[in-house]
This record gives sequence, C-alpha cells and structure tokens, in this order.
Amino acid sequence: MSNKAQKVSVPRESWPFVEVLADEYYRSLETVSVYAAEIIPQQTNLILKFAQKHLPALEGLEHAKRIRKVPEANRLQVLLCMQTFLSENELKTLLSTNGYEDIQFSTVEISKYAPLNRQQYEAWNKSWPLSYREDTRLDPKFSPEDFDIIHQNMSAILKSKSVVCRIVDPSTDQVMSEECDTRERHPLHHAVINSINLVARKESESAGGVGRMKRPADQMTDEAQKTGYLCTGYDIYLTHEPCAMCAMALVHSRVARVFYSIPSKTGALGTNYKIHAHPSLNHHYRVFKDVLRDEHHVLESSLVDQEL
Ligand SMILES: [Zn+2]
Repeated sequence: MSNKAQKVSVPRESWPFVEVLADEYYRSLETVSVYAAEIIPQQTNLILKFAQKHLPALEGLEHAKRIRKVPEANRLQVLLCMQTFLSENELKTLLSTNGYEDIQFSTVEISKYAPLNRQQYEAWNKSWPLSYREDTRLDPKFSPEDFDIIHQNMSAILKSKSVVCRIVDPSTDQVMSEECDTRERHPLHHAVINSINLVARKESESAGGVGRMKRPADQMTDEAQKTGYLCTGYDIYLTHEPCAMCAMALVHSRVARVFYSIPSKTGALGTNYKIHAHPSLNHHYRVFKDVLRDEHHVLESSLVDQEL
C-alpha cells in the first residue's frame, strides 16, 4: 500500500457512503430554560459577580456563551441561572436585596447539549449563541484510492447475490477470509460468524494447530501482537447490515472498520441499534453503510426483508 500521508483526504460530504454515527450526532435541538438579565454594557461585571456569588452555577452549559447582544439596542443579555433552581419571585427578591431591583430579566431557551457538528451548531446557535470549534482530527480519512479498494471489495461480494462477509487486512489489502451465510446448516452460522471462524482456523493452522488465536509473532500485525485479538485492525465488508450477535462478535474480535451495503430489518449497526457506538463497550469500530448500495437495487429488494 502506498504511503497514506501523501494521499488526498476527501471531505466527509463527498464520501460515496455514509458513516453510521452515534445518536448524539443526529439529535435535534433540546433546550433548557435559563434566566437572562437584560442590562446595559456597563453593568456586565457587576451582574456577573452577583450571579457568581448568589446563584447556582450554570453547570453543563459550558457550551453556551454567557452574554449576547440584544439586536438593535445597546443592551446585553447575561445568563443568570437555570429556571429549575429558582422561581421568578425568588430571583426578583435576590436581585432587589442586592441592590439590583431595576434589573429586568426574562427566560431564554438554550441548547441542552454541545453541538457535535456544524449542522447542529448552525441550527442550535439560533436559539442562543453557542461555542463550537470544528475538530476533524479524529475523523476517518479516505483518499480516492481508498474508495477504489473499498468498492472493489464490496463489488466482489455483492456479485455473489447472497449474504456474504469478507475480512480484509487493510495494511496489505489481503483478503483474510470470505464466507456466506449457512444458516440452513446451523442457526448460528451467519456470514460474519463463519468468516471470523475461518480466520481463527487459519490462525490455528499456521500455528501448527495449537490454540485458536495463536499465530507466529512475525506474522502478526503490531497491534495484533499487542492485543492478541483475532481481527485487530481488520476491515469487514458485508453485503448486509449484521444482526446483534454478529455485531458483538465483531466487537470481541477488535475489528477496525465495518462497511456494509444494504440495511436489514434486524440490523444492529444503524437500523435498530448502534452497537458500535454503545458507550459501555470497551472497543468501538467505525461503521459505514450504503457502500455501492445504489448499484444493487435487485439484490436489495430480494434480501432486505431477511432476518440477518
Ligand atoms: Zn448475524
């Protein structure tokens, strides 16, 4: 494989498939009610000190700007505290006993959550200004060459017109195993399980039949040597979105990325659950769906209702 550092990274909007992200990335605006004082700019420091000394802190709202300008007026709105902590009368009394009886306040709606992407930021910022800094450092990186490899792998398994799983080592582009669904022989023999089992069998054979997960150290990737897990760092190509059992088997095998073409009714990587994004799991792989999906309508209509 050529040096990745020299490759062009294609922006997310132009990927020929979609990443299945955790639900937080798709959520719409949920707000909390917060009291905001309307002041002239000269009162800013005093009112901030008052809030700091006498009001409950704005915990969990660090993503919200503390002050905003009132449009077309030389006035500001300053956040005081969440409505749940204090009634309006209690706030009035607190203000007046501290010499701020003239201060007017109202309730404003602020996004409960920090925006995780630009779309959320742009939509939620209208309600009350938020802080947001786009950080794409942890985003998956794909070059046009990567798309070619992904499409080649997906295209190959889609041709079989059945439910197939292919496991690839992305450091060499070598196909480590490829199996189809054989549930008619055994109820648990789904394509993913069959493919993982085949990798295990090959490992076992190359280690002289000793133990399922042992392979000679010089044949293992650095990461696999460190972790000892079966599919560490491997890519998984699936014609169909896998079920919960298969999705969990992929977690346990420590795969790096899963690409699938067609969603399925019992799918656990986007349709019903997002197992890969579950916070309680100690390994998370990336999931990409709709890979070459448009080109395989026929396969989709014949298989999409299957329980996978
Ligand atoms: Zn399955």
